[in-house]
Amino acid sequence: MESIKKILITRQGRKFYVKDLESDLHTQYGFVNKEDLKKSKEGDLVKSNTEKEFFVFNPSFIDLYRKIKRDAQIIPLKDIGFIIAETGINKESKVLDAGSGSGALACFLASIAKEVITYEIREDFIEIVKSNIEFLQLKNIKIKNKNIYEEIEDKAIDVIILDVPEPWKAIESCSKALKPGGFLVSYSPSVPQVADFVNALRKNESFVYLKTCEITEREWEVEERKVRPKSASIGHSGFMSFARKVTK
Ligand code: SAH
Repeated sequence: MESIKKILITRQGRKFYVKDLESDLHTQYGFVNKEDLKKSKEGDLVKSNTEKEFFVFNPSFIDLYRKIKRDAQIIPLKDIGFIIAETGINKESKVLDAGSGSGALACFLASIAKEVITYEIREDFIEIVKSNIEFLQLKNIKIKNKNIYEEIEDKAIDVIILDVPEPWKAIESCSKALKPGGFLVSYSPSVPQVADFVNALRKNESFVYLKTCEITEREWEVEERKVRPKSASIGHSGFMSFARKVTK
């Protein structure tokens, strides 16, 4: 994937991604000359041929993250934020996630954790994950073509996040890979998956079940005094179940 060199944003918040500094940037507000693009620095203001103003800045992680390739259904940001907050993933954490899918969750976590390992059974998805890792220039993430329901060779993990169709099948393998006190999180779109996972967890002596949550995000429109929830908002994404590994 081509890297993003600069970001232009209008006063109204429309964003444009500049991938090529050798050509003019064409927008619905006219074009910005390549010479102006090239010499612009963070915080500068450039104008198109129709005098439309754009602020310039360098892409930060979240700008790039929003542009990654997504083939499988990725976990939305509202849910990633909740998982991070509940488990306290930070720069000391060793995290494992499965399946990688497009690697969205794994890449986001790699931007804040010490180390991320991601397991995926489908080789076509592994290629997408690799290209996303490269695009985001992440150095602390390893992708493995492995089945999370089978033995996990990685040990002393702080947090494991499952996003697989039958998460209860991974409880045994995760129990051996997590360190005492480590968190097991399962992300599932449907209720029967939550029931089977939590019921299996409750029977397992290595884990203490904590809770299952769903996060609702509702964006509001704010236009003068017309202040109300936006008509279209994100629908259902997934339920998150949390448990803690308590034995050695
Ligand atoms: N959380 C990911 C999306 C995961 S989609 C993201 O944010 O991008 C679920 C993925 O799990 C699919 O790619 C599927 O191939 C993979 N998968 C299914 N069963 C698996 C298993 N037993 N072990 C590892 N990966 C598995």
